[in-house]
Amino acid sequence: MNTRELAQKLGSVEVIYSDKNARSNSSIQPFDYLLVLDFEATCWNNLDSKKKQSEIIEFPVVLYDVKNNEIVAEFQQYVIPTEHPKLSDFCIQLTGIQQNQVDNGVPLPTCLLEFMRWINEQMKLYNMDFPGGKGDGTKTCAFVTWSDWDLGVCLKKECNRKRIHCHKMFRKWIDVRALYKLHFKRPLTGLSGALLDLGLQFEGKEHCGLHDARNTARLVGKMIEKGVILRLTKN
Ligand code: AMP
Ligand code: MG
Ligand code: MG
Repeated sequence: MNTRELAQKLGSVEVIYSDKNARSNSSIQPFDYLLVLDFEATCWNNLDSKKKQSEIIEFPVVLYDVKNNEIVAEFQQYVIPTEHPKLSDFCIQLTGIQQNQVDNGVPLPTCLLEFMRWINEQMKLYNMDFPGGKGDGTKTCAFVTWSDWDLGVCLKKECNRKRIHCHKMFRKWIDVRALYKLHFKRPLTGLSGALLDLGLQFEGKEHCGLHDARNTARLVGKMIEKGVILRLTKN
């Protein structure tokens, strides 16, 4: 390990930005696996949105293997909104999520239980755990989101409002948008703009949660290649 890598590992160097390091940068990343998450929620046009609270309607997470630069597992569940069960035309248009998909979904507490079951399976399969977790996984993982909205606002507020227990694992994450802004110092133009900026096209449908999560993972892969260290931003 050279001095620069050591300094980075000890946290004394925040930004390492070098194309030369390319994929070898994965070995100096703090996490072996990243759980890239992107919620879709109920929404309305400008006038209505001020009066109403959003509820999660799609809960997708992709498990990204840092070393091999690939998605190795996916979780996706549609969720029934209980406060405003009928999706607005605006929301259907934006997300592409249809009324029957949420009607056939599960309530948020059930979705959280299903996610817990899924994550526990992945932890055993890939021998991983969150830092400080109770399991005996030797590999580490962390949540990644584009902005703080998903875990810092959307899930947090809905759980508080509905008195749903929210597992403590959802309290720490990497806001890849903040790291992007910090490292590339370019005006933010959204996820697809960030991808374009690094030479990638958005694949699939924007605002489909699963596609957003997959594309965020692709962005993360490119950022790692460019030397960005994926460290926790909310701890
Ligand atoms: P995104 O991950 O960018 O697809 O956005 C997540 C959620 O934020 C969406 O499911 C909507 O609830 C809300 N949202 C995103 N863009 C807009 C918009 N232009 N107007 C209103 N709500 C939006
Ligand atoms: Mg999003
Ligand atoms: Mg989205």
